Amino acid sequence: MTKKIMILPGDGIGPEIVAQARRVLDAVNTHDDLQLEFIGELIGGASIDVHGEPLTDAAVARARECDAILLGAVGGPKWDTIDRAIRPERGLLKIRSSLGLYANLRPALLYPQLVEASSLKPEVVSGLDILIVRELTGGIYFGEPRGIRTLENGEREGYNTYKYSESEIERIGRTAFEMARKRSKKVCSVDKANVLEATILWREVMDRLAPEYPDVELSHMYVDNAAMQLVRAPKQFDVLVTGNMFGDILSDAAAMLTGSIGMLPSASLDKDGRGMYEPCHGSAPDIAGQGIANPLATILSVSMMLRYSLGLTKSADAIDAAVGVVLDQGLRTADIYTPGTTKVGTCEMGDAVLAALYQA
Ligand code: NAD
Repeated sequence: MTKKIMILPGDGIGPEIVAQARRVLDAVNTHDDLQLEFIGELIGGASIDVHGEPLTDAAVARARECDAILLGAVGGPKWDTIDRAIRPERGLLKIRSSLGLYANLRPALLYPQLVEASSLKPEVVSGLDILIVRELTGGIYFGEPRGIRTLENGEREGYNTYKYSESEIERIGRTAFEMARKRSKKVCSVDKANVLEATILWREVMDRLAPEYPDVELSHMYVDNAAMQLVRAPKQFDVLVTGNMFGDILSDAAAMLTGSIGMLPSASLDKDGRGMYEPCHGSAPDIAGQGIANPLATILSVSMMLRYSLGLTKSADAIDAAVGVVLDQGLRTADIYTPGTTKVGTCEMGDAVLAALYQA
């Protein structure tokens, strides 16, 4: 049966890296007869320039009819000064909340070939394979009331609301337990239950779920300790599950353990496993248009899409293996280059992955 994939290249390096990912997707589509169909749409600054808003309702409606979405990145200096309500990033928030993409999966996997690119010692990071499960549509980033108000004494005060309902915690908790079942069967739930009531409830709900997953070991950790442990002994973790804000921060820290943000894919899933797939990095305006961006995070996002939303494990494995081959060949974009390896551009990296597909 035909599956529909929406392609949202976005801004900056987005179109360059998505073009390479699309070549890989076309190749597996043909080789494995996947019957994928593609629909292109605008998001971010590219959409603002044409439609005056970062994502149209029509684009959201078309996205709802798709089985999965591949996104590049949004944003750039050109749109930094426009009205906050229609900034490029609003397009991302709109698609996430409209499609109910509440589970953000961010693997932090260190390829053995890139161990030298990590900021930590090889013995601390080699073999690193963590999955961060971040709640994406709730918590303090969305909580109301919020704003900046003027107090009676004339001083201004900024305020936000950190809240999670039991059902929001339960559904992200279940995602974490299910993911752990496919991995090393350990979930560490990260909270600040010594200070924040919202996370006392978070901990209670996680404990309540645990007996339903007797094969998975659940532990809890305060977020400050988790940040410390991620740089001290990251290999102790398998699946880390946490709320929106803590997940935002911890997943960027975990990303750097792997050497380059240019290597890391991500998935944002709804309750039925439909999802949006994108690299963890932004639109990198500093290198846009130069043909030097690393396309591997986006190519690996395609692999995650095939694996998690489309159930096409064999094709996903083929892409992962091809990425392993090009790294073995010593090919590196500038962000992961170390002396002794061969520096290549965005398109050459795409060529190499295509050449390695089904050869591994
Ligand atoms: P960024 O991730 O775009 O760039 C940070 C640094 O990493 C830059 O030096 C960049 O050149 C480098 N980099 C990023 N991706 C790379 C790749 N694939 N290959 C090689 N190098 C790469 O973060 P930023 O500079 O903070 O943000 C730039 C713009 O991206 C901003 O407008 C921001 O709002 C937006 N942004 C978008 C998303 C998204 O679309 N999901 C996420 C983060 C930031």
